[in-house]
This record gives sequence, structure tokens and C-alpha cells, in this order.
Amino acid sequence: MASDHVDVLIVGAGLSGVGAACHLRRDCPDKTYAVLEARDAVGGTWDLFRYPGIRSDSDMFTLGYSFKPWTAPKAIADGATIREYVRETAREYDVQRHIRFRHRVLRADWDSGTARWTVHAQRTDTAETVVLTCSFLFACTGYYRYDEGYTPALPGVDAYGGRLVHPQHWPEDLDHSGRRVVVIGSGATAVTLVPALAERAAHVTMLQRSPTYVLARPSRDRLADALRRWLPAAAAYPVARWKNVLLSTATFQLSRRAPGLVKRLLRRAAAGRLPVGYDVDRHFAPRYDPWDQRLCVAPDGDLFTAVREGRASVVTDTIDTLTAHGVRLTSGAQVPADIVVTATGLNLLALGGLTLCVDGAEVDLASTVAYKGMMVSGVPNFALTLGYTNASWTLKADLVAGYVCRLLRHLDRTGQQVVTPLSPDDDARVPLIDLRSSYVLRSLDALPRQGVRAPWRLHQNYARDVLLMRHGRLTDEGVRFSRATAPAPRPVPTRPAARR
Ligand SMILES: Cc1cc2nc3c(=O)[nH]c(=O)nc-3n(C[C@H](O)[C@H](O)[C@H](O)COP(=O)(O)OP(=O)(O)OC[C@H]3O[C@@H](n4cnc5c(N)ncnc54)[C@H](O)[C@@H]3O)c2cc1C
Repeated sequence: MASDHVDVLIVGAGLSGVGAACHLRRDCPDKTYAVLEARDAVGGTWDLFRYPGIRSDSDMFTLGYSFKPWTAPKAIADGATIREYVRETAREYDVQRHIRFRHRVLRADWDSGTARWTVHAQRTDTAETVVLTCSFLFACTGYYRYDEGYTPALPGVDAYGGRLVHPQHWPEDLDHSGRRVVVIGSGATAVTLVPALAERAAHVTMLQRSPTYVLARPSRDRLADALRRWLPAAAAYPVARWKNVLLSTATFQLSRRAPGLVKRLLRRAAAGRLPVGYDVDRHFAPRYDPWDQRLCVAPDGDLFTAVREGRASVVTDTIDTLTAHGVRLTSGAQVPADIVVTATGLNLLALGGLTLCVDGAEVDLASTVAYKGMMVSGVPNFALTLGYTNASWTLKADLVAGYVCRLLRHLDRTGQQVVTPLSPDDDARVPLIDLRSSYVLRSLDALPRQGVRAPWRLHQNYARDVLLMRHGRLTDEGVRFSRATAPAPRPVPTRPAARR
């Protein structure tokens, strides 16, 4: 980076931040940009999580970027392959040299006079403060805390004599071979971990308070495999991508319109993979409707296979207390455990903890309204990436990055510098994330709200959003374009920061 002012400053070098940088390179090659990343590696989620079996639960034809075909054999891929895909993309688009690693962004101040953000970051290795300015700030910070996952208070935890582990920080030295493992939780992480651990453990118990919908899906995509045999990757990829988009949209819509039917189908599919006489209703039939929470995926039915073969079991009960040797349940049953894994979820964190100020006033995100699910009312020249909750994250991340590039080109074309989202006239608001999972409910208060109509309402529907974000108008009642009111100052002087 030659200067300490850039046109676009991206925060975060995960799937979204790298994707955003590639979009800039493709659509706005004349714009200067930098990426500030708190960690010392590219990949975000796919670099952080290292627990056994770590994998996507979306298919990679939709979790992959629109502009870079997914060519690995498996559609539901392991963490290491996804990490390498993100890194390879960063290399191909020359993103690496724009990234400043170990820079945690703490605060960004917008000044309307100069139409610039002044961004304060702290180096995680030296604690040095680094200041940059930018014209557009793009938060690709993911949605959860990196330093610690969510662990509820566990009674008796001090008495427990075995190893207690959270999947967000899996110890490299932990050998679970021949051990009895209890995995507390029933979300995607537990559903991933249980069959993976059961390959070598003496036995794995998935201990859940209440069940989750688990759907067996093939880990390979037959249509994509067939297409890839005959067509170049660049032609096969979009077909497989759209097939999966349409399939997941149809499943979601059917779940919303006929939840009873989908419930019965999911129950029947689970029962067909479990032993005869298995208590499917107790362990695999949730009280809530499908897609009130994310559906969990078992690639090739691996969880059901582990249960059927007796290597894993599911217990639906509550914890009375941890004991020296395992877990005692409210029912009085004891589950012995050499290792207890708390697959109890994430702590949501808006904007990676960064504070926004506009003309000296701190932005209270909870009182803002999201515009098209990617900008925030009253906050100029700022966008954030929040992926879909009912489909792959990257589908939305790609659209948001493409839209930011359209906005930047529009500003240049019209000789303006500032784009500011406005609030809707009415007071009707709904939560930004339409899921009832406890990790979402715990954190909704820290996020912007949505309006009830376009352009303040997120569709959660990729096909509709493609029309809106790729082809829709940039000027509408929800946004104001303007010029800066004062000439741009000279860049803020800073000491040059070391790069990886
Ligand atoms: C275990 C797991 C499995 C998942 N599987 C799927 C799946 O199958 N399909 C799906 O659609 N979604 C899935 N998700 C959601 C997942 O997070 C997204 O798919 C995607 O990886 C998000 O990418 P991101 O770049 O937006 O965020 P992240 O991957 O979280 O990356 C954010 C980056 O920003 C950096 N950062 C954050 N705050 C700051 C700051 N203040 N300053 C500097 N840098 C900062 C972080 O260090 C990180 O590198 C999964 C999530 C988890 C935890």
C-alpha cells in the first residue's frame, strides 16, 4: 500500500472480505483498497474452526463465489478444502498484498465535511495504533466473536475431572481415540462432530435439550459431477449453482407454506435411516417448524449411520450436574465421559466489535434500519456483509459486494461522493435475522432492524435479490446521493505497518 488513504477499506479477510476485494478488482479496477484483518491468516471461519470433521453444511456450488468455480469433488466440503479455496482466490486476484494482518479495527469516524472515514485499528502483536482514512468502509467481519464461543453455565463444572472443550478452540493435542465423549448441543456443530468423533472414540453421546431437524444429503452432487464430465468448469458451475439455489429456495418456501407436510417428510426420512423401533419423535422431531431454525445437514446420513451402528447415541434430556466422571441428567441417568464438548454455539457480535461514529456521534446500531440488508440508515459510505440465513452465505455476500461496486461507479459517473441510506417514514420494524435459534435471539438487540417493505426489507430469496441488487435501480426513496462539502485533506500521517 503506497498511501494511508484508500478508496475502499475492507474489514476482515474471510470468505466475504476476500470476495469483496475480488469484486473491486473485477468491477472497479481503478479503486485503491486495503483489507484490515485481526488474525494472521486468510479464511475467517474456515481458518478458525479446526474441530474433527469441520465442514460446510451448504453445498459449495452456492457457498463458493459466483466468479470462481468450485472444482473439488465434494459438494459438502471439509474446512481445509474451503480454506484453500479462499486462499487460492485471494492469490488469483492478488488480494494478499493488500491485506494488513494482525490489525483489529476498533473505531471508524465519518466526517461529512471531507466525506471520509478515519479508521483506528490496533495491531494485535504490538498493540500499536494504526490510523487510515478511506472514502468507503466495507465491514466483512462475519457475525460472531472470535475470542470465545458461547458456553452456558454448567452446574458442577468444577467437579468434572475429564477434558472440557469448546469446538471454537479445539486443542491440537486432544486425542479422543478410545475415549467416551459427550457432545452437548444439537446444532450444526454437534451434528458434524458426533459422527466424526465416533470414527475413533469408544462411544459418542449427543446430549441435547431438544431435537433439531437433521436432513441426510449426498456429499457429492450428481448433476454437477455429470456436467463437469462434459463441460468446462466455467459452464458447469453456474448450472449446478442455480439448480441448488432453486432447490433450497423451493424447500424453504414449502417449509413456510406447508410446515406440517415438511415436518412429516423430514421425520419419515430420519426414521428410514434409524433402527426399527427407534424413538424418532423424542430425538429427531423438534417442536418448532422447519426453517424456524437452520436445518442441519448430515452428509450421506453420517449421523444416522453412527447411531444405527451403535457408535453414537442421542440423549434428549437436561443436565442436572456434571460429576467427576461425566454428566448426571435430570432423569437421574448418568452418562460417563472422558471428554465433554460444549457444542453450545456462538456469541454473536455485530461489525466485529467496531464502533461507528458519524460527525462525532456514536451510531447505536439497534436504532438504525438496514437498507437492502447491507447498509445502515444515517451511516454514509458504509456497507456490511450479512449472508443469508436460509441459503449459503456467499450468495448474499457476492450480491452485496457487486452492489457496492455499482454504487461506487454511480458516484463517479455522477460526480458525487456520498451515499447515505435513510429510514423509512413509518415505524414498523422487524428483526434483521428471521431465525428463532437461541444464538440469534440472544443478540438481536445489537443489530439494525429491518423495515417491512422494500428497500428496507430483506427478501431472503436469492433470485429476487439478483433482480434487485444486480439489475435494480440504485436511486430510490431509501437513499440519498450528495457531494462532499469541503475539499479532501491530506492523508493522516501514520507509521508504516508491517505486512505478512
Ligand atoms: C462452523 C461454521 C460452519 C459454517 N458453515 C456454513 C455453511 O455451510 N454455509 C453457510 O452459508 N454458512 C456457514 N457458516 C457461516 C459462515 O460464517 C459463513 O459461511 C462465512 O464463512 C462467513 O464469512 P465472512 O467472511 O463473512 O465472516 P468470517 O468467516 O467470520 O470472517 C470474518 C473475518 O473478519 C475478521 N474480523 C472480524 N472483526 C474484525 C475487526 N474488528 N477488525 C479486523 N478484522 C476483523 C475476522 O478475524 C475474520 O477473519 C458457518 C459458520 C460456522 C461458525
